[in-house]
Amino acid sequence: MTKQTPSSAGLNRPQVRPTAEGWKQPMGPDGRPQLQFAQKPRVSQPPQHLADMTLAERSAKLKEMGLQAFRAKQLSVHYFQHYTTDPEQMTDLPAAQRQELAEAMFPTLLTEVKRLVTDNGDTIKFLWRLFDGSLVESVLMRYPGRVTLCVSSQCGCGMNCPFCATGQNGLTRNMSTAEILDQIVQANRVIAEGGLKGTGRKGVHDAERVTNIVFMGMGEPLANYKRVMNAVHRMIDEAPEGLGMSARGITVSTVGLVPAINKLAEEDIPITFALSLHAPDDELRDDLIPVNSRWKADAAIDAAYNYYQKTGRRVSIEYALIKDMNDHPWRAALLAKKLNARGRGWVHVNPIPLNPTPGSIWTSSEPEVMQEFLDILNDAGVPTTLRDTRGKEIDGACGQLAAAE
Ligand code: SF4
Repeated sequence: MTKQTPSSAGLNRPQVRPTAEGWKQPMGPDGRPQLQFAQKPRVSQPPQHLADMTLAERSAKLKEMGLQAFRAKQLSVHYFQHYTTDPEQMTDLPAAQRQELAEAMFPTLLTEVKRLVTDNGDTIKFLWRLFDGSLVESVLMRYPGRVTLCVSSQCGCGMNCPFCATGQNGLTRNMSTAEILDQIVQANRVIAEGGLKGTGRKGVHDAERVTNIVFMGMGEPLANYKRVMNAVHRMIDEAPEGLGMSARGITVSTVGLVPAINKLAEEDIPITFALSLHAPDDELRDDLIPVNSRWKADAAIDAAYNYYQKTGRRVSIEYALIKDMNDHPWRAALLAKKLNARGRGWVHVNPIPLNPTPGSIWTSSEPEVMQEFLDILNDAGVPTTLRDTRGKEIDGACGQLAAAE
């Protein structure tokens, strides 16, 4: 009996179609999955917080309240450098004013509901409750030489992807700039208190605060463009105006909102851009990523290429490998062809294995199929590396914790 190679096995492989399991995708009048690009009018946002404002705006607000404007800088140091909003710890402020100043600038934004920690302690998933009861998640991961936080940018999501727990109830609202940033400040506090274990290159912790941000938590960041960009600015602003992070460590990821990608390319901030493509052909992508009905795969790839041309920064293509759905060798070849047609050296492909989920259509590809997919792309000259999937044991995929609550 001849042994089948993955390629010959691939020829006979079935085509599994994307469909929501255990919930019903809301459909629009055109019979396609409904898309929601903006929150409903009159949905309230949380009270204004220090992190929503520039340093000058913070000073102006304090002045307006009859308080000393220069206190803005001290409060900013407490928040962005000491990670505290507790007036008791602000001993450089006059005791009689601490409470009033803290109340003016630090309304409670995120309340911890749940914290799941991996056995070795190097990955923590947080579930936060917001002022209006909305639930969002962030995931903190230590790697040698860096600490990455995966942040949420919206409560729910309007992109209605059939595989995603977050999108099941649509978009509740956009998160505010300060809500996005508070995820980082809270994570930094946990790290400072020794709550994130794991070791760096020399066997010691070699990053003592969050160094890298990925906008891959709940929500479509480019659908909340203004607040997300404000948050990015505050991440890279010098301390104490902001967190003083490196822009290169920040990755904004999208399912393909083409006009917003083009706008991002004009921002002149050297962040990393990632396109969640997941299929190179519209036939499949129309169902897998419903926003594809608005902007097709080629238009999204063109926008990604435009980002590279405008910024000179290599872009990432995210590709979740799903068994018998999008992991066929011909799709790897088509993806390579489409990327190479635009140029060389401008893109990196990151396939991500899904969690193995027996009985579900949303399950990981077989290891040899994944390897073949990678080989086809690499052999075609497209740098491709399998992404690490941290946090599997704590329900790593976005939205799972909030959905369970
Ligand atoms: S996968 Fe991303 S874009 Fe799609 S519904 Fe989930 S959070 Fe939204």
